[in-house]
Amino acid sequence: MKAICSPGLNCYSCPAATTYCPIGAIQQVLLGIRFSLETGAYFFSLYIVGSIGLIGTAIGRIPCGWLCPFGLIQELLYKIPIGKKREVWPVLRYVKYFMLIAFVFLFPLLLTNDWGMGKPWFCKYVCPAGTLEAGIPMLLLQPDLRATLGYLFYNKLFWMIVFLVWSVSTSRPFCKTTCPLGAFYGLFNKFSLFKLELIESKCTECGACANVCPMGIQFNESVGSKECIMCMRCMKDACQYGAIDLTCGNLSLTANQRIPKKSRIAS
Ligand code: SF4
Ligand code: SF4
Repeated sequence: MKAICSPGLNCYSCPAATTYCPIGAIQQVLLGIRFSLETGAYFFSLYIVGSIGLIGTAIGRIPCGWLCPFGLIQELLYKIPIGKKREVWPVLRYVKYFMLIAFVFLFPLLLTNDWGMGKPWFCKYVCPAGTLEAGIPMLLLQPDLRATLGYLFYNKLFWMIVFLVWSVSTSRPFCKTTCPLGAFYGLFNKFSLFKLELIESKCTECGACANVCPMGIQFNESVGSKECIMCMRCMKDACQYGAIDLTCGNLSLTANQRIPKKSRIAS
């Protein structure tokens, strides 16, 4: 199944991986484009771009909330009752867009060697999920690999430890600040086929949705936010007034009574 694009961040090198990671695949495509142009092959994978475009258009950031293994690990660590829980510094939330534009798109495409080949910058220098799900299991399963350890491994080990320790005090710090896949899917949150909508006439602005949100947002003040991972906790666990509605296109999947969009805007 490694020919199939996974919806979530899922290191291809993990011994248990069954599909490939969309972020790793995009970098692999981009790092080889100049080489393919110079050799006349003109290779570009519409399959990968189409796969993640289709996932984003259909379900937005749902994979972050429901499928990402590294998201789950961060949530489990956050449950450890140690120290004061904190929110991330707001400006750090923009780092993930820098990661997407620079480390996933521009650097692999533009910083090439004499052969015209680039590097998978995000996978190689940053991704803590890859270190946790692939690097460390591979070292445990294949002890001979330990002789090859060097700067690259220790750099990534450092970032993995940073994010794991940070997760104890802050909910999902990697998702909020660094994940380029979350940054990409978040762009679709307002327009995806499945999305959460606010029924304004039912919202009392009580703020209960903010208390359960792992991404630190208040749903009624940020409908369609790029930060929302569509975990639906605000809808299931917090809102007592039925003001949050899961929709598919124009169809309500959770509200008993459908309120037309025009009436919501008017109210
Ligand atoms: S919990 Fe429901 S009613 Fe309260 S602010 Fe959030 S959306 Fe509005
Ligand atoms: S706004 Fe609601 S669905 Fe979105 S991340 Fe927060 S709790 Fe989850």
